[in-house]
Amino acid sequence: MCWAATLFDFIKFKKNIVDLQLHKKVFVVSGGAKGIGVSISKMIAREGGTAIIADSDQIANEKAIAEIRLNGGKAYAIAVDLKEPGDCKKAIEFAIDTCQRLDGIVNNAGSNDSVGLQSGSPEKFIESLQKNLFHYYNLVHYGIEHLKEHQGSIVNISSKVADTGQGNTSGYAASKGAINALTREWAAEFLRFGIRVNAVVPAEVWTPLYEQWIAKLPDPETKKKEIVQAIPFENRFTTPEEIAAMAVFLLSKVSSHTTGQIIHVDGGYTHLDRALVLRK
Ligand code: NAP
Repeated sequence: MCWAATLFDFIKFKKNIVDLQLHKKVFVVSGGAKGIGVSISKMIAREGGTAIIADSDQIANEKAIAEIRLNGGKAYAIAVDLKEPGDCKKAIEFAIDTCQRLDGIVNNAGSNDSVGLQSGSPEKFIESLQKNLFHYYNLVHYGIEHLKEHQGSIVNISSKVADTGQGNTSGYAASKGAINALTREWAAEFLRFGIRVNAVVPAEVWTPLYEQWIAKLPDPETKKKEIVQAIPFENRFTTPEEIAAMAVFLLSKVSSHTTGQIIHVDGGYTHLDRALVLRK
């Protein structure tokens, strides 16, 4: 009897530690059908929440929701081009029509599109901001009244390019820099509504986008080796699941006093001493 009671307390204790309390909660994930986004969608569902995938790739959308449902999770998808403000509105409306609530938004869709100062043009620069920045604002703009109802959480996926620069990618760098600034700005604006806003900053994550980029280089295998050599912790790429773990933690009430934070999940790539990798 005494044994059983102790075991029961232990299970309860364990459950309290790991339960992210996402049950019945609904989260829109932009670009949630592939790469980092699909890992976030899957982790939301695994933790008992519902993922609303807003992604332009219809085939990937269907694949993602099928996989999540096969594992007993809840997910819905809408094919949208988030460059269009009307499609951002549609994605939020879809979440509300389908699930009648909204508890969080993960702004994730984007791509490093190499619009440089010299290689680009004023038109291409604006286009890059449309791809990478404007929909972060638009989704939150259309979702904010619903988030207020449930003291929701916003997670913005940024990039180390905002900190380090890269060269030949002004549009992407400007977008990610603005995303970090908006994370602080919205955290301040939404304090009084109990809405938290944080950013997750990846550096080198092995995703379809990354794979496509590296495949176009003259010697992809050598380039891959050079890149992992420069990642201090374990000389390897960050996995999409490692980004998702931080994002889902920030969505959950388990991170209830974390707001306005810009958190690097990058194996030390952005901040650790370069000498650590040069010495190897
Ligand atoms: P990914 O593998 O290409 O996945 C992104 C998904 O978003 C794709 O399904 C893509 O669809 C969709 N998407 C892109 N633009 C969209 C739009 N305007 N409307 C609707 N859907 C759109 O990319 P990822 O590598 O996971 O990157 C996700 C985020 O992490 C991005 O914000 C990126 O900047 C950031 N990040 C990634 C890395 C990395 O190493 N991978 C590093 C730093 C930051 P399509 O394929 O049809 O475009």
